[in-house]
Formats: sequence, C-alpha cells, structure tokens
Amino acid sequence: MGIFQKRKDAAYLKTLDTRGVFDNTTKTALPQTVIAKIVQKHFDSRNGKTPKALLIGFDGARADSMHLLLKSEDEAVTGKLFTSAYSAVNALKSAGGLYLSFAGGEPENPQETSTAQGWAAILTGVWGDDSGVKKHVPLRTDCPTILRRLAEDGKKSAFLAEWADHFTITYKEEIRMAKEQNLPLCFHQYADDAALATAFSEHIAGDTDCIFGIFEAPDYNGHTTGFGAQNYRYAAGVMHLDNLAFRLMEEVRARPTYEEEDWLVLITSDHGGHGRGHGTQQMYDRMTFIASNKPVEG
Ligand SMILES: [Zn+2]
Repeated sequence: MGIFQKRKDAAYLKTLDTRGVFDNTTKTALPQTVIAKIVQKHFDSRNGKTPKALLIGFDGARADSMHLLLKSEDEAVTGKLFTSAYSAVNALKSAGGLYLSFAGGEPENPQETSTAQGWAAILTGVWGDDSGVKKHVPLRTDCPTILRRLAEDGKKSAFLAEWADHFTITYKEEIRMAKEQNLPLCFHQYADDAALATAFSEHIAGDTDCIFGIFEAPDYNGHTTGFGAQNYRYAAGVMHLDNLAFRLMEEVRARPTYEEEDWLVLITSDHGGHGRGHGTQQMYDRMTFIASNKPVEG
C-alpha cells in the first residue's frame, strides 16, 4: 500500500474517532460477523418475553455517514447538529449503542468489500473463507444464515431485498433448501426502496419473528454520483433511510402485543465506498457501522 493511501486511511480513521458519535473506536471496531451472533444470542435469551428482531440494512452506507445524523464534540466534523427525535440511529444509540464495524475480512486475511461478501458475513457470522462467499458464488449449504437457523428452530424469518444476485446467486441454494424443507423462511425481491419499506411494514404488522431487509439508496447514489457525505445525493439517501427506519420502529412499538415482546432493532451496512465504487481494502470501503437498541459487547 502506498504512502498516500496510508495517509488517506489514517485521516479517515481520525475523523471516525471524532468523540460523541461512536461508542467504540476505530481500534476496537467490531467485525461485521458479530451481527449473526448478536441475533442468535437475542433469540436464545429467556426473559419471559417473545424474542423478535428488526434488522435493517443500509447498503453502501459509509461509517462517516453517521456524521450526518449524530451530534459530535467537534462542530468542524459534524456541524452544529441537534439530536432529531425522528432519527432511528439517534434512538438506537441512546437505547443501546452506535458502533464502528468493519467489512472486508480480518486485515491479515482480506476479502472484497462488496455487497455479496458483506451481507453473507453479517448473516452467517463467518467470513468468506468459511461461508464460500469470498467470491461471488452461492453460500455453502453447510453454512446457514441466521435466518435459516432461526427458521429451523420454528421462528418465522424473512429476507427482503432488491438486488437480483441475492436471489439468483448468493442465497440461491438456501432458498431451495428452505422450500424443500418447508422452513418458515421467505425470500422476496422488491423493485425499489419504497416497495421494500411497504414490505417491512407488512411484516412488522404480521407475525414474522425475524425481519431482515436491505435498502439500496446509499449504494445506488454512491455508484451513480459518488460515495461520501460530501455528495448531497448520497447524504440525502442516508438521511431519508434514517427517517424511514424510525417510522418502522414506531410501527414495531404500535404492535398490540408489543409489551409481551422483546425486540432487537439493528441497522448496519455491508461496506462503505469511495469515488463511484467499493471493493478495496481502503478504510473508506472497509469501515461500516452498527446501530443497536441493545448494547453490543465486543
Ligand atoms: Zn455497490
């Protein structure tokens, strides 16, 4: 890696360590594989309430896009922001925490910072060497997603997304197995973020136990007009999704059975980006975030 890239990486990490935004540091950033474990632990917990989960993906949302939403101790980084009462990320941070996480494998064993690799690591809890999704190929059949594991346990789970490759490549075999074994696990494709939001609402109002879905605005705007908070189109995508996610959280709270339920609510991204792409080991691409309504232990 060249000296210029090293300097750029260091400067970006320093920005991410601006105090007041994340509850950990770039040095203690969590591997994105931690998410499957958090979800499993949540469904294993026995506290008399019914465990449920709302897992919201912001595809391609860089870690520093949190600077659009959170008040920090450095106005030069985040400006003079107030804490919006309608922000999902702010609500999650105050209930649980907002953490830096990373895509792209362990530094000594890197993998592509791309969509298939990122979500597969998040959903299986292992990196591509163990899941098969180091390359853009189907997930190994002996490496279930957390959704399939829950479904095998009788929990109703849903995978909602837009990108065709999730259905025709990465989860192709898992979709087949879910059908063959009659698991309560559904995979549905939607045309855009608006249609996906409607599907989220339907599942929240219904009896799905674990709802997972991936919104595309940050990734789409990043590829067409540039990744990074400096691009207003990219910024708008992240901010709209933050509001949309807050509305979904309100719908969860409005469930008539809410008091008898224990909801884990989590927002995360699969990778960051720079220029009009991602996939590299640059920190812009590697650094992601996890917002959770329950504190996460590293
Ligand atoms: Zn992308």
